[in-house]
This record gives sequence, C-alpha cells and structure tokens, in this order.
Amino acid sequence: MTELIWFRNDLRLGDNPALTAACAGNAAVEACFLPAPGQWADHDWSPNRTDLLLRSLDQLGQDLAALGIPLHIRSIDRFTDTDTELLALCRERGITRIHANEEYAFNERIRDHRLTGALNHQGIALHIYRDQTVVPVDQLKTGNGTPYTVFTPYSRQWWRWVESHPPRLHPAPAARGAPLPPPALPELTAWRSEHVDWLAGGEGAAHRALEGFIDQRLGAYADQRNYPAVPATSQISPYLALGVLSPRQCLVAVQQRTGAESPASAAHTWLNEIAWRDFYIQLLYQFPRLSRHQAFKPETEALPWEPAGANLEAWKAGRTGIPLVDAAMRQLNTTCWMHNRLRMVTAMFLTKNLFVDWRLGEQYFMQQLVDGYLPSNNGGWQWSASTGTDAAPYFRIFNPVTQSERFDPEGTFIRHWVPEIAHLQGKKLFNPNGTVAGYPAPIVDLKQSRQRAIERFKALGKG
Ligand code: FAD
Repeated sequence: MTELIWFRNDLRLGDNPALTAACAGNAAVEACFLPAPGQWADHDWSPNRTDLLLRSLDQLGQDLAALGIPLHIRSIDRFTDTDTELLALCRERGITRIHANEEYAFNERIRDHRLTGALNHQGIALHIYRDQTVVPVDQLKTGNGTPYTVFTPYSRQWWRWVESHPPRLHPAPAARGAPLPPPALPELTAWRSEHVDWLAGGEGAAHRALEGFIDQRLGAYADQRNYPAVPATSQISPYLALGVLSPRQCLVAVQQRTGAESPASAAHTWLNEIAWRDFYIQLLYQFPRLSRHQAFKPETEALPWEPAGANLEAWKAGRTGIPLVDAAMRQLNTTCWMHNRLRMVTAMFLTKNLFVDWRLGEQYFMQQLVDGYLPSNNGGWQWSASTGTDAAPYFRIFNPVTQSERFDPEGTFIRHWVPEIAHLQGKKLFNPNGTVAGYPAPIVDLKQSRQRAIERFKALGKG
C-alpha cells in the first residue's frame, strides 16, 4: 500500500498535519501537486504570487526527493479535472489513501466534497486535516453559539485558547528511502514574474525571514509598524499565504527566540495580526458568500457605486493626485506588496472617496499582490468599504492627506515613490493640489466625496 500526500496550500515539510499523517506508518509515501492554471485565472491569482508558488514548489520537490519521497506534478486546468487526474495517479501508483490539509474557500470545499465521494466509490479514502490557522476554524463561538463577526471579542477568546493550548508543531518527516532525483517543474511561463525576485522561494527562506524579523525588528514593531517608510513589519505574508510557513510556527518561533514564557508576553501586538488572519479565515469558512463576491452586510449591496472608468484607472496607475495614495499604488505595482496602513488608505480612498465598488479594488489587489490571499484580502477590502465586519462605523473615513502627515511625517515614503514631487517642502508635499507640472491635480475633492459617501450609507439605513 502507498500513502499519498496531496500538497495544496501547504508547501512545507514542517508543521504539516497531512504530511505527518501520511508518514505515520511504514507504508511507502508519495506526494503530488496539481497546478490548475485555469482555476488560478478564475481566482485572479497574480503571476507574482504563482511565481513564488512555483519556486517554493521547486524547493519542496527537492526537499522531498532528499527524503526519498517522489513528488508527482500533474497539471490540470480547473478543479473539476481533479478527480480524473487523482484517480489516474492512484491507479498507477497503487494508492488507496490520500492525505490533504483543509482549504476554506468555497470552490475548494466543493471540490473536496465532490472528490471524497468519487474517490470512495473507487475504494480510495481522502483524509482531510485542519490547517492554515492557529485556532481551528470552528473552535470559537459566541455565547449564543454563533461565529464571531467582530474582531475584539474574537481576539479575546483567541488569546484564551492560545494560552490554554500552546501550539505543538508537527516535525518534518525523517527520510523514507534513498534520495531521488528532484522532479521537473512544468513550464507555466505565463505564471512567472520578474517582479518578485526580492523574495526567495521555499521553506528555508521563509524561516530565515521570520527569524530575522523576530531577532531584529519585533521589539520595535508595536511603535513602528504604521510607518510605511520604516521596514518594521515582517513581510512574511507571501509565505503564509502559500502555506510555505504555518501561523503556528510563527507563535512557536516567537516564544523560542525570545525565551518568553508565553507568546503573548513576547509579542502581543504582532501576534494579534496573526489573530486577525485567523479571524478572516474563520469568517470565510462560516460565511461561504464571502468567497462569492458578496458583501458580508447584505444591505450594502444596494449602495449606488459610481461607474469605475477613468477614476479606477488613475487609482491603479498611482495617478490620483493624492501623493500617499499614489505612492502606495506605485509600491504595489513595482514590488507586488503594500504596507498594511496603505492597503487601508488606498482601499478607503477607492471605496469612499471615489465610491468605486470594493470588488474592483479587491480584484486588482489580487491580480498584483505576491501575498494575495482571499480571506485577508476580502476581509481587508470589506472592512475598508464598511460592507464587512468592521466594528468602526461607516463615517470613519481616513483622510489620505492627514494619514500622510501622521504616518509619513518626513515625506520619505512619498518622495521615494512619487519623485516628481520630491522637491516640495512642508505640507505642500502631502497635497500639492495640481501645482506641479507633470503630476495630476486631485481627481476628487476629499471633503465633498467624504460627505457623499456618508450620505449614501445613511440613505441605506432609511431605505
Ligand atoms: P506583519 O505586520 O508582519 O503581520 C504578520 C502577519 O499577520 C502577516 O504576514 C499576515 O499574514 C497577518 N496580518 C497582518 N495584518 C493583517 C490583517 N489586517 N488582516 C489579516 N492578516 C493580517 N494580507 C494578506 O496576507 N493577503 C492579502 O491579500 C491581503 N490583502 C489586504 C487588503 C486590504 C485592503 C487590507 C486592508 C489588508 C490586506 N491584508 C492582506 C492584510 C495585511 O495588510 C497584510 O497581511 C500585511 O500588510 C502583510 O505584511 P507583513 O507580513 O509585513 O505583516
């Protein structure tokens, strides 16, 4: 008998529940990954994300080969082709048991549900294990037994759970046989990118990034994380998004490297961001409509969004005439990553000031980001657009000029990304207001557009 570990959103050997289960006995173990470019396109995955995915897959194939575990890479187009390909592989290799880690978005869940039946029918068992979060997705419920939809009470419970269930990691498996030649990757040239060379692929690189952050920047994180000109955050989001790193490994690394008694005492502010990530994943799991381009607050579907047109294009290109927004969009377009504060600023600007449907911004981010991750992207966009689980009321709208004065006070970030206005001094830099040749005048009046957004949200309540 041969056990199969089916890698999906978990491209790692360490802390991988499905891999541990596959390697638990003495049976032969083989591995597979099924690239599905048609599905990637449907999900708006960017070539930046898939380039890192393919490089991480390459590394995983080499690591598995060194352990004597062959990795079969079989390209399919869409999830609907999975049954045929997996069944063929199982028949070829004499596999009767498949192990995989759970995925929480709608299409993935439908695929697994359908597949379980189809495989069972052929005498093959599919075992699915909880993954992707620190706290299992259905673990925390309110007093009424309903899922949490507000972060603050969720995070209180999250911390209680973490303190009473210190994460125990699944060790990477030992060698199962003589080393093998590494597998060849499919070409998939359309899914490659040159924009993310700054980020190395694979588990080793992910751990180096995590450990470097903990050793050098964690101490100042709480004070500096909101300043985009300061490299104060971890930038491990691309690895978490692809499962090259697990969030449980983050907790354990913090505790081990700081020698703290509990993760909370070492790095509460940073790990609270990991709690945000868990929060959005459990929401996606509990509310399948979030995977289907629907608002968390159904009443907001009636908002009269403006036609996207030229305003959306100016936003995408970083030519809105609002320096902080433009700097942020240019950071995204060039590096395929954007600082968290700026994700909020640019998303609010698009959805509140330009009053463009959040779904268009969500899609553009997904098409560019190296860390594009449906739960966090959808959660962040709906939070910013006030269509989601935002505890803050809709009239709390960031003013991007005030935000630049607070979080880029020296103008370092703006000057770097918007060089055409770098010579401006003082407050002029934050709002040149059409006075610099070659740099656009603001495409929208911030005050009036803010008022328009508030009135439209108010009208929803009355309607
Ligand atoms: P750090 O500050 O070092 O945080 C550590 C980790 O915690 C991150 O790597 C990330 O996994 C998680 N995290 C941090 N902030 C958040 C948050 N607000 N929500 C959920 N998880 C968080 N994150 C993604 O991973 N993929 C996305 O597609 C994505 N889209 C976003 C879109 C919008 C509109 C907004 C407002 C936020 C989005 N985020 C997304 C969340 C956040 O901006 C990024 O996770 C963060 O900027 C990544 O940088 P970092 O790794 O340096 O984070």
